[in-house]
Amino acid sequence: MLLVVILHHLDIQWHNINIMKIKEIYDTMAYGPAPENADEAIQFLESHKRSFKLFINGKWTAASSGESFKTINPSTKEHLANISEGNEADVNKAVAAAKKALPEWVKIGAHQRARYLYALARQIQKHSRLFAVLESLDNGKPIRETRDIDIPIVVRHFYHHAGWAQLRDTELKEYKEVGVIGQIIPWNFPLMMLSWKIAPAIAMGNTIVLKPAEFTSLTALLFAEICQQIGLPNGVVNIVTGHGKTGAALVDHKDVNKIAFTGSTEVGKIIRRATAGSGKKLSLELGGKSPFIVFEDADLDSVVEGVVDAIWFNQGQVCCAGSRLLVQESVADKLYKKIRARMETLRIGNALDKGIDIGAIVDSVQLKVIKDLVKLGVDEGSTLNQPSWKCPTEGYFYPPTLFTDVSPSSTIAQEEIFGPVLVAMRFRSHKEAVKLANNTRYGLACSIWTENINLALDIAPQIKAGTAWINCTNVFDAAAGFGGYRESGFGREGGREGLMEYLKPRINDAFSDKPQINLGKAIKATNGQMKQQTGIDRTTKMYIGGKQARPDGGYSTIINSINGTYVGEVSKGNRKDIRNAVEAAHSCNKWENNTGHGRAQVLYYLAENLAIRREEFADRLVQMTNQTKSEATKEVDLSIERIYTYAALADKYDGKVHHTIHRNVTLAMPESIGVMGIVCPDEAPLLGFISAVIPAITMGNNVVVIPSEKMPFSATDFYQILETSDVPGGTVNIVTGHKNELAQVLAKHDDVDGIWYFGSKEGCKDMELLSADNMKRTWVNYGKYRNWQDKAQGEGEEFLKHASQIKNIWIPYGA
Ligand code: NDP
Repeated sequence: MLLVVILHHLDIQWHNINIMKIKEIYDTMAYGPAPENADEAIQFLESHKRSFKLFINGKWTAASSGESFKTINPSTKEHLANISEGNEADVNKAVAAAKKALPEWVKIGAHQRARYLYALARQIQKHSRLFAVLESLDNGKPIRETRDIDIPIVVRHFYHHAGWAQLRDTELKEYKEVGVIGQIIPWNFPLMMLSWKIAPAIAMGNTIVLKPAEFTSLTALLFAEICQQIGLPNGVVNIVTGHGKTGAALVDHKDVNKIAFTGSTEVGKIIRRATAGSGKKLSLELGGKSPFIVFEDADLDSVVEGVVDAIWFNQGQVCCAGSRLLVQESVADKLYKKIRARMETLRIGNALDKGIDIGAIVDSVQLKVIKDLVKLGVDEGSTLNQPSWKCPTEGYFYPPTLFTDVSPSSTIAQEEIFGPVLVAMRFRSHKEAVKLANNTRYGLACSIWTENINLALDIAPQIKAGTAWINCTNVFDAAAGFGGYRESGFGREGGREGLMEYLKPRINDAFSDKPQINLGKAIKATNGQMKQQTGIDRTTKMYIGGKQARPDGGYSTIINSINGTYVGEVSKGNRKDIRNAVEAAHSCNKWENNTGHGRAQVLYYLAENLAIRREEFADRLVQMTNQTKSEATKEVDLSIERIYTYAALADKYDGKVHHTIHRNVTLAMPESIGVMGIVCPDEAPLLGFISAVIPAITMGNNVVVIPSEKMPFSATDFYQILETSDVPGGTVNIVTGHKNELAQVLAKHDDVDGIWYFGSKEGCKDMELLSADNMKRTWVNYGKYRNWQDKAQGEGEEFLKHASQIKNIWIPYGA
């Protein structure tokens, strides 16, 4: 009986304890760990004896040096495996394998390639849990993210590009593969970056050598196994692990036809310079300091969750992280309070715990970078806000952090921290918001929060960034392009524009090593000869800001015809003239803000005015060149026709609405590049000038033009046409003089956003080299010549493509 009483008593006590516990749990809402099982991933590591070789020509190959490095689990600092250190010799082997595999990979055709891509998608999907766990182990990112975001995006990428592979010969028949592609990726989204690189490249018929980041090679190596499993032909995909030096060897390899790089802006610039003049195609996806703009009518509770996704997703190690919070003054304090409260509830811990929000920083090196920059932020006077809880100590963890009272010029407001650190600033007017948002050298993404769709769509085009998310953030899809403006790099991944990075126009094969128009050479006469012949001073001025301008230096150059007879004198522009022209180009946004239809009207008018002066322009060509009058007239007529073509395209080369997998309307809108330098070909003085300048302005750019050095008068005559055709002053600026000297000034100029150069091989190299400082978009001819009279070579959408960049604007729909 006593026993029964005791047991009953104990039962009541136990019951009370449980009720207390439950009450406590309701109060704290705390929950225990929910670890994901890592057995399969460990088995994979063991199957390679935790020591991985390189994947070359379909086989596991020991590194030439025999050296390796360790990869660790950043959540625990435990050693996961040894990774081979590939060197130049290994890169040579891998490139040779890719080169050998290329002809057969091209030959098997679009459908067979589509089948391989589909098989890759299926196989990754089947093994998605293994991939997710391995990625979380190696990188430290929460399993919820790898499972629900990274790996599904990877699978989607391969499926989507299986489709593009199938459509390659019908939808993209004007293009062909580039060849052997070198691809270098960072550690923040290891498998996702791999898929963004490999899927479009092999879908378009290229073969590849990929170097993963040293911290996170494991999922790339598992992917290599998948390639073996599906029987992908040897050499189509090669994976060479290693450090930066391995990447550099790939960049420098002469048989690599294109480099696709994702990583820091610093290394991006090194690669731009290393490939200058080599003819290698290049795409760079670089860093960012993206604005997250909150207007006063935004739904602040949604904004808070947006902030979590913008800066605490993947521990803030996201190139397009919304790391600069710009808040309208009237709601700033309220929002900060809400964010601080939310930070308090975020859970940090082992990446394999399904219940955490924030995982580990990838490595001690990156953790130190974050800590140092945060310390600098405090030293610079910003206010640090962090949650009261402490991070686990067994791995590389850093708490969610919010800086308030930040000055826009402080280091933490300008430099990419690449960690879970948000810096907040306030604005009053919409104009100030745009100004603050664009106050950065980067231009990767922006996120705009307002309940007013008119405001959102007014702001989105004003932000210099490749992606604009409206009331959402960090959404990606294979059907939409992703990539930067300014120092966030150039080129796109995803969408049709992403495919273009792995294709080249077939027409390029028709370019020649020699000028394709047979023109005479201008012979210089002496000053004395000239004056006697003419008696009058015929020095043409330059054209800057819609006005004729004398050269800063006051000098001119004599231009003679082929027969040595004096044609006239042309102003000798210098550095200062280029600077004035760039300034004039920046001071006018009338043209950029005009509609396609509006620009078309002006272009038609230009053509009409040129037609009226057809005879005069033909005579000028005869005067400068050795063409006959009928040849010259043909050049003028072709020029008129070319202007018509671009007038026709001005309102037709437009964007798309993408079918992305989210509930979004995703607009892909071509935007102007900004201020462009145009260095015209020397041959075809009028047609070359028209062919280069007109497409650039068709897309809304303002341009600074350096016309043919030897035959500049068709261009200088043309400003009379510009003056009478409603082209706003500052849209076309013409600076005459020494072509390559002036071109170099343009290429170095930090306020020039893009440059086209048609000239010598050396000149092309200079353009690519000198443009690296501000990451200008360059389009050069590598010393090859187009036949400007051939429409296929001298006009069309290829020109418009290079004169624009695509912004993707994501607008959610549904309540
Ligand atoms: P890094 O630029 O240091 O490295 C990127 C890759 O390049 C790594 O594989 C690296 O090798 C390799 N590499 C380093 N030096 C050279 C070199 N001289 N030549 C060729 N390859 C080289 O960037 P992180 O890996 O540190 O990644 C973080 C950066 O990447 C951030 O700045 C982030 O903004 C940017 N990023 C941009 C993205 C975008 O889409 N725009 C996406 C993701 C990241 P190793 O790692 O072995 O040194």
